[in-house]
Amino acid sequence: MVRVRFAPSPTGYLHIGGLRTALYNYLFAKKNNGSFILRIEDTDRTRYVQGAIENLISKLYWSGLSIDEGVCLENGKISEKGDYGPYIQSLRVEKEIYQKYAQELIEKGYAYYCFCSKERLDNIKAQQKADGKIPRYDGLCRGVSIQQAKERIKNGEKYVIRLKLPANRDIVFEDLIKGKITINTNDMDDQVLIKEDGFPTYHFAVVIDDHLMKITHIVRGDEWISSTPKHVFMYEAFGWDMPTFVHLPTVLNKNGKKLSKRNDDVSVEDFKEKGYLPQALINYLALVGWSPESNKEILSIEEMIEEFSFERVSKSGGVFDVDKLDWVNAQYIRKTETTELSKLVKPYLVKAGFIKEDIDEKRLLLITETFKESISRLSQIVEQSRFLFEDVEVEKDAIEMRNVAHIEILKEKIREELENIDEMTQEISKTFMKKIQKASGFKGKDLYMPVRALLTGRVHGPELSNILEILGKEEILKRLK
Ligand code: GLU
Repeated sequence: MVRVRFAPSPTGYLHIGGLRTALYNYLFAKKNNGSFILRIEDTDRTRYVQGAIENLISKLYWSGLSIDEGVCLENGKISEKGDYGPYIQSLRVEKEIYQKYAQELIEKGYAYYCFCSKERLDNIKAQQKADGKIPRYDGLCRGVSIQQAKERIKNGEKYVIRLKLPANRDIVFEDLIKGKITINTNDMDDQVLIKEDGFPTYHFAVVIDDHLMKITHIVRGDEWISSTPKHVFMYEAFGWDMPTFVHLPTVLNKNGKKLSKRNDDVSVEDFKEKGYLPQALINYLALVGWSPESNKEILSIEEMIEEFSFERVSKSGGVFDVDKLDWVNAQYIRKTETTELSKLVKPYLVKAGFIKEDIDEKRLLLITETFKESISRLSQIVEQSRFLFEDVEVEKDAIEMRNVAHIEILKEKIREELENIDEMTQEISKTFMKKIQKASGFKGKDLYMPVRALLTGRVHGPELSNILEILGKEEILKRLK
């Protein structure tokens, strides 16, 4: 039974790279009829952000990734499901799950108490740096016997527990994507497992929890690959079965750099606000670092599950190309039923002050339909439709239309035609331009461009009959003036 976990730390928001990790875990689980588990890794209390857990989960839900086991939300409240809980590491600390495993490692000789002060550690570090060496614990407390250590603890000395790595031993493991990895213990540090406050570090908690939760595949970003040898060493020390390691290529921006908060949108929230549809974002994200055998670019989640495999995940970074995402999103917008889409664009139009919350449904549908083909993000409807709701600057091409000799005739004919009607209904709008054509004797470009310019301040744009209907009789008259 495949069991995979997504194990974010609640340090703020869900990163787009994190969502891709979650997605690959999810696809792999679904493909293999396994379980997708959410565990929260919050043992670093200094980085904890209030509300971050709720935020993470709600973004996963928004993306359509349902959680089979672990932390979830029930009526907006953090809750849990499954037999291997708690799934929040700080709750596991309360249950004293980690201490006994740390003791086991100490007894087996794979870990030791360390009493070195922060000051001492800082000094060693500074010295090592000055000598051009990689900062690393010098092993002073390795020589303290368990007996001596217990005495010192009894006397109130503060301590941490460290991993006791043997000298000069190759740690070897097989990564499903990156292949065989070998690191010598001489290049590794005696990692702190339990901190002074009694909390486990990430490295310790991750091993214990993945084991206790019977995780079969550890699928995570490749920034963790250099930490994996420490984990592998611990699995061996405990005599536990090793899970399969799968390290995913980093998500890069178009310049080949890691996505950064400063230069790129990185939080899922940003993408949601800009009006990316969750299905489109997930579809595109799947392709950042993976390609289906069919080479299809638009895939439903079912198709992704069907086609997903780690063999087709690239070894090196996946490029996150916002233009490509826009293209994918546009496809999804076009495919969305207009009624559904109208509900999605409405908040943007309301916020811009273009429409009221209680807008007539038919009118909202008309506005939506008018821009459905031209927006690639929901939020773009605001800029694209602004000319209908506000006085906008007249574009250069439209200004030139003033010189069209028959412009006054067109104005006149539109006015006359409007006098015959009470309201610009849909029916009337459909034949309105035909009537102007007949009455004025102008057609094609000579007709449409100047009329557009008169009514919208630009010579190109969406379907003119829609524009007539949205503007309505009074607004058209006003604009003619
Ligand atoms: N808590 C780690 C993070 O925030 C997860 C690493 C892992 O999956 O082992 O990225």
